[in-house]
Amino acid sequence: MALVTMKEMLEDAKRRRYAVGAFNVLNIESLQGILEAAVELKSPVIVNIAEVHFKYVDMEAMAPVVQRAAQLAPVPVALHLDHGLSLQTIVRAIRCGFTSVMFDGSMYPLEENIRLTKQIVEICHSVGVTVEAELGYVPGTESPRPNGTEAQPEFFTDPEEAERFVKETGVDALAVAVGTVHGLYKGEPKIDFDRLAEIARRTNIPLVLHGGSGISDEDFKRAIELGVCKVNVYTQMSIEAVNRIKRRLEREPELINFPELLLEAKAGIKDVVKRQMEVFGSAGKCESPSPLCNMCRACRLGRLRDREEAPQPASDERLIEVISKAIASALREWSHGD
Ligand SMILES: [Zn+2]
Repeated sequence: MALVTMKEMLEDAKRRRYAVGAFNVLNIESLQGILEAAVELKSPVIVNIAEVHFKYVDMEAMAPVVQRAAQLAPVPVALHLDHGLSLQTIVRAIRCGFTSVMFDGSMYPLEENIRLTKQIVEICHSVGVTVEAELGYVPGTESPRPNGTEAQPEFFTDPEEAERFVKETGVDALAVAVGTVHGLYKGEPKIDFDRLAEIARRTNIPLVLHGGSGISDEDFKRAIELGVCKVNVYTQMSIEAVNRIKRRLEREPELINFPELLLEAKAGIKDVVKRQMEVFGSAGKCESPSPLCNMCRACRLGRLRDREEAPQPASDERLIEVISKAIASALREWSHGD
């Protein structure tokens, strides 16, 4: 069983100074490309399902597929909701068995973002689900308010606000706006490293970069050195998948077998994921014995330990009890806030 929470995964990344890639899944082929890359490179991996992609992927149908694939994979896998926009989506993800969620309240004023994030943290932590939040605003296609594809310094994360946000909400990881954008850049990406260092110093929790496509390897490494423990990647995977399909159709214009094109897409995604895992330094981190074996237990070493310790999961009844209490209290507060 290699499905783990993102919190424990990122703790190892923070301790050993590497970042775990979070890659968006849209169909079975993209999931296979991502997991094959992780297994071949012995890397932990975060599988993202994004709310903005719900028109392509059915979360309720895909979650069990990811969970089954994670059980079979000899590396730790976290199933993560990317850019959850409402309490409703967060609760759906918890019911689907996600091990972490991102609540994106970045479109709200600070006080409101703190209030909503805090409630979601309370609910998620009561059932052992990790929470990532966003402070500041990373513009672009995956965001709730697309706004061109240029980094906008006026929306960059303020280090002082970040300190307060983390303290008051209790989030496990924080997505920061320091110069990346979702999708493709207009012009040269420029990361504000001083700001990143200051946020890391003040918050001391794993930081997350969204909009990782287009950043140079050197910039990634520097950001990871400063405290980035998770990087979201999607655009580059999509570009490579499309390029492979185009090339195949150029070679074989008569091709009518569409699964052949899906395999091309999968191969392209796998290549991008492998490359990013090397850059992020997560490749090889599951070479056992590793601190990750304690949480993953999927390789031979893990299975041996499992037999000795055999942890008991919480019963369904217990989970339902805890989660309904938390939701009831959050709903009470939300209705008072309106
Ligand atoms: Zn994002």
